[in-house]
Amino acid sequence: MKLSDRVLTISPSLTLKITAQAKELKASGKNVIGFGAGEPNFSTPGFICDAAKEAIDKGFTKYTPASGTRELKTSIAENLYKKSGLSYEADCIVVSNGAKHSLFNICQAILNPGDECILPSPYWLTYPELIKMAGGVPIYIEGKEQNEFKPTIEDFKKAITSHTKAIMLNSPSNPCGCVYTKKELEEIAKIAVENDLYVISDEIYSELVYDGNEHVSIASLGEDIKERTIVVNGMSKAYAMTGWRIGYTASNKELAKAMGSYQSHATSNPNSIAQYASVAALKGNDDFIKDMVKVFDNRRNLICSLLDKVPGLSYIRPKGAFYVMVNISGAIGKSINGQVISGSADFGEQLIKNVLVAVIPGAAFGADNYVRLSYALSEADITDGIKRISEFMDMLK
Ligand code: PLP
Repeated sequence: MKLSDRVLTISPSLTLKITAQAKELKASGKNVIGFGAGEPNFSTPGFICDAAKEAIDKGFTKYTPASGTRELKTSIAENLYKKSGLSYEADCIVVSNGAKHSLFNICQAILNPGDECILPSPYWLTYPELIKMAGGVPIYIEGKEQNEFKPTIEDFKKAITSHTKAIMLNSPSNPCGCVYTKKELEEIAKIAVENDLYVISDEIYSELVYDGNEHVSIASLGEDIKERTIVVNGMSKAYAMTGWRIGYTASNKELAKAMGSYQSHATSNPNSIAQYASVAALKGNDDFIKDMVKVFDNRRNLICSLLDKVPGLSYIRPKGAFYVMVNISGAIGKSINGQVISGSADFGEQLIKNVLVAVIPGAAFGADNYVRLSYALSEADITDGIKRISEFMDMLK
């Protein structure tokens, strides 16, 4: 029996696979340091957990409207206004099972088979798969390391064809930690408006910016661009709520209605208890976000200062999110115990085998000369992990 062509084109998520592999090794008693994690290693704040318990006690355990409760949509709209100056009515919001699900809905709602979606590379590894699941075609534009991995405006312009339907943006970005400036976003917005394109703006790391850099939502740059932008965000990263699975979109009403209808048949509503808790999160005191950003910033400074001392590795200092892309060109072509390292997958494999350190090979993000290190782990683990990576580099011949 044959599987569908659609499912056969999809690659499994390498980040989830490596994170699971590291967790398994840890569970078997091995002292593994995992730089693979894509989630804050903080607990969900207590008042959010209390709200979830209250939801259960109150019997808030039934179906809700498929695209989310009015209360949550209103809180999201208020929060988008407070944080990014974006003004949306509740009917413009669709709440889904995590931002990943929101992105899936968007691709299903705007892409027809053969439609092209411009995707800056290195990219979050799920984007190409979501585009392909909708029959769309990812058109990669490479961001060079010297330009903080951001493609130039010319690169965006050159990628446009008569089939282009959308531009995918992710700022601050996973895996590079780059942040697009207001000026760059204005130029991209101009291109999108002139060419009648949608912009999918994944802003899941919007709260995590450092060194006085500012997160700007492209949708805030004028009515024309707002109308064609779908803002994506969620509770996972800023509120340490990865397991609760609440993400959302803000878009024009027509698109919101279409995505809501689609979701109503695919999954129905996101979890009622998690929605209730998300209202408490968004309405509550969010000082803990500032504290979390401070902790991440210290870890970022630490990992960068340690990497500075490892011969053969280089990196661009990230400005946002909690990842650093490390250039491993200096290791490629070398060997360890007779095994040649011919790319990032080999590097990752040998690293975990020899020094019990897990990283995500850049090949997963379209950048084979790199590995991604998350700094969502303790300072002690970061220090130990980079020491082991340094020892590994010394072992290469
Ligand atoms: N977008 C980016 C760039 C991400 O890195 C992630 C998670 O790692 C997501 C979206 C999905 O987040 P979630 O589905 O947990 O809301």
